[in-house]
Amino acid sequence: MSLSISKVCSQITPSVTLKLNAAVAEMKKQGLPVIGLGAGEPDYTTPPHISAAAKQAIDAGRTFYTAAAGLPELRRALVHFLKKDKGLDYDISQAIITTGAKQALLGAFLAVLDPGDEVLLPTPCWVSYPEMIRMAGGIPVMIPTTKEQGFVPSIEQLRAAVTPRTKAMLLNTPSNPTGAVWNRQQLQDLADLAVEKEFYVISDEIYEKLVYDGAEHICIASLGKQICDQTVVISGFSKAYAMTGWRMGYATGPKDVIAAMASYQSHATGNPNTITQYAGIAALTGDQECVEHMRQAFSRRRQLMVERISRMPLVSCFMPHGAFYVMLDVRGVVGKSINGHVIASAADFAEQLLNEKYVASVPCEAFGAPGFCRLSYAISDQHIAEAMDRLESFLNSLT
Ligand code: PMP
Ligand code: GLU
Repeated sequence: MSLSISKVCSQITPSVTLKLNAAVAEMKKQGLPVIGLGAGEPDYTTPPHISAAAKQAIDAGRTFYTAAAGLPELRRALVHFLKKDKGLDYDISQAIITTGAKQALLGAFLAVLDPGDEVLLPTPCWVSYPEMIRMAGGIPVMIPTTKEQGFVPSIEQLRAAVTPRTKAMLLNTPSNPTGAVWNRQQLQDLADLAVEKEFYVISDEIYEKLVYDGAEHICIASLGKQICDQTVVISGFSKAYAMTGWRMGYATGPKDVIAAMASYQSHATGNPNTITQYAGIAALTGDQECVEHMRQAFSRRRQLMVERISRMPLVSCFMPHGAFYVMLDVRGVVGKSINGHVIASAADFAEQLLNEKYVASVPCEAFGAPGFCRLSYAISDQHIAEAMDRLESFLNSLT
């Protein structure tokens, strides 16, 4: 045998978003005046009543392992929350708590995919989906969507992508990076197709609480018993409760899928962090005002950013109705020069903007959207205003 990295792991591309977060943190540490529009996380700290519950759990000595699928009290609170919030009817055996929504997604793919199974994946999409699908032995089948179609695939596109190997579809509404929110009809069409062709829907709803301008987040599993029975609903605490560092998410779905995910988890991580789970109970059962407060702030910042971009040369964007990202169309910048350097791509644009103006953005090649950069508006109003001044001055300096 040779000393070599496995095929699966050697094919994984490290997360560009996390790499960028680390690079920005390092630049800040060096004292550089960098403004990070790359980070996909709320700038708020966790609401005090949630942190207090974790402190209490430590003081009360709740420092032991829990059941692999998570504390029964938390799963009960979750099932109750989903009934109230989305009208979903789950038994506690259909709920699992995970180490972030990330682990729920990987667990779901591992639970349903066999080698060579296909997963429909509308693009632009979050960087981790294709890698996770491949890690689980599956094949991501990309379905490209455009700005003109609001970044939601048509039902004809979806139907044309289905083959006898289609085992699942990854649905992400509201979407990272596009901010698109699927409407009821679009979801109903997908649900009908999934039922007809018998594939799972893995529904990542991590940004569900962050919708704006009257857009409604609809959970596909709430559209009927049949589609509910073949949907794994995934969400978490990171975005709604500003708890990215706590690492906790969850999945609900068919009993056998959740049981398979729990078996995998019992070996992979044992159980999600116990202290964090007590914080999760406080998050789900406590006052939800903190969520609304953050949502309103994100909505205002989104308008601030989009309004400034709409007056800039060479770039454009559309008003997102969910999540906290703006997709900046930089195709008009490609071919322009900065200090004699010709900008060749969105990645090059992002690099020059960072070097020249210390504004970090995420080039979207890895999201399946060449020609676009993702800007996060989960930062303060002042930082948005300053970042937009710098972006505008950068664009004005291009020749
Ligand atoms: N899904 C999407 C679309 C995301 O943007 C993120 C952010 N990292 C996640 C899932 C994972 O969230 P977490 O693991 O922090 O719960
Ligand atoms: N989801 C966030 C983002 O897209 C956080 C980083 C990550 O986990 O990818 O930036």
